[in-house]
Amino acid sequence: MLEYKAARYGRTFAKIDRFFPSTRMCSACGRVDRPKPLNVRSWTCPCGAVHDRDVNAANNVLAAGRAESLNTCGAQVRPAPVPAPRREAGIRPGAARSARSAEGIPVL
Ligand SMILES: [Zn+2]
Repeated sequence: MLEYKAARYGRTFAKIDRFFPSTRMCSACGRVDRPKPLNVRSWTCPCGAVHDRDVNAANNVLAAGRAESLNTCGAQVRPAPVPAPRREAGIRPGAARSARSAEGIPVL
């Protein structure tokens, strides 16, 4: 449902893995902590960041969705091909001539 509704309203849709550790990953440093029971509503990462369980998970899901959409949903990953400048596309004058003439092939 989210996918077609996003398409209807011109929004970007990205799907992340259902086992992505959104709750137990620190959105500040990326460290993955132990699983947390549902009654744990906030936790402190060893890096010092204090997280609300749901806000941290939302930040991680958003970051994962954006990372996913940049690579698999049509965004340009590699630079677009550009035609070579004329001086690079040509060959050195006389290069082919000298190689061919050395092998006895007539040069036109
Ligand atoms: Zn952390």
